Amino acid sequence: MQETKTKSKYTNAIHAGQHPDPVFGGINVPIYQSSTFVFKDAKQGAARFTGEEDGYIYTRIGNPTIKALEDNVAVLENGYGSLATSSGMSALSTLVMALLDSNSHMISTAAVYGSSRTLVEELFSKFGVEYDYVDTSDINNIKKCLKPNTKALFVETPANPTMALTDIRACAQLAKENGLTLVVDNTFASPILQNPLDLGADIVYHSVTKFINGHADVVGGIIVTKTQDLFDQIKKTLVLSGATMDPNQAWLVLRGVKSLALRVEKAQDNAIKIARFLENHPKVAWVNYPGLKSHPQHDLAKNQMEGFGSLLCFGMKSGFEAGQKLINTINIPALAVSLGGIESLIQHPASMTHASISRENREKAGITDELIRMSVGCEGFEDLKNDLEETLSKID
Ligand SMILES: *Cc1c(COP(=O)(O)O)cnc(C)c1O
Repeated sequence: MQETKTKSKYTNAIHAGQHPDPVFGGINVPIYQSSTFVFKDAKQGAARFTGEEDGYIYTRIGNPTIKALEDNVAVLENGYGSLATSSGMSALSTLVMALLDSNSHMISTAAVYGSSRTLVEELFSKFGVEYDYVDTSDINNIKKCLKPNTKALFVETPANPTMALTDIRACAQLAKENGLTLVVDNTFASPILQNPLDLGADIVYHSVTKFINGHADVVGGIIVTKTQDLFDQIKKTLVLSGATMDPNQAWLVLRGVKSLALRVEKAQDNAIKIARFLENHPKVAWVNYPGLKSHPQHDLAKNQMEGFGSLLCFGMKSGFEAGQKLINTINIPALAVSLGGIESLIQHPASMTHASISRENREKAGITDELIRMSVGCEGFEDLKNDLEETLSKID
């Protein structure tokens, strides 16, 4: 769709898919806050419906502001095309509806975003979708669950909140051999640090609520496909299910995405230093961050990612109570769920984001009670470090 290879991600994040306002020349894509679009005459209306003429009809089907965002992220992910959705969850539900039916089976990473798993286990199971949630960081676990009716493999890497990685190239190979569609939730890495389509995935999706928008003021999602066939299939499902993004929402995300590369870079720079600081702190038992040599998949991270990101998790030596005290006392990181914003956030997955998953399944997925997740933001590193140091000094 767009020329991508020649430009850097900084340039693409700012310019791809963007065009000045055609009427007055305003530098930003206008908010086309219209539900419907006027046809010149009956012939044009009919031609828009048959697809003989390009152009807009109705915002659930397409809208120029939303299209600008879709074109932008399609370039960042190096895909054929992209579809913006009302939320990250509606991106996933659209994909499940488009790819599976009542006789089919899917395999997914066990340590996924909590609601992603609950959506399938509690909602799509009612429609007959079969599933297995396994530790996809070991490809053999996926192989063991393959069935004749397995249609799709959903992978989240890095995974939420354990920071376990899954080898996307190995999954792509397995998917190809077994006729599966490989879908990657790329929310944690952002398109700046990982491009699953380049590694062989068929579809990538994001909660744009997180890094892509980056300012904790929008909920949204986006799907990018590698081929036109998948794009058409998913677009049809999306238009019918109605989980479309709103133009106003798309415009805010367009504003956010311009600084994506800069934000990701700064947050990552802070996160590397914070991970090292925590790892060396006597009161901290362990730190999981793909950029640390101690991360079991540090080499895989170097191989499939262009950076290690700004999410990390850790446990205190004296267990969850110490962790609870930490998240209650720390100053700069807000005690809140969500991630990937310009501000640092800290939370306790077992009682918050992953509380809807049974303790048994949580523990199998490595989400222990003591695990604290931190989304490192773009504040000054010294301020974040001093805050952590002071807070840790008050904890036994
Ligand atoms: C937040 C999140 C989602 C869900 O997105 P919403 O925008 O909250 O609907 C899905 N996957 C991951 C990895 C997330 O962090």
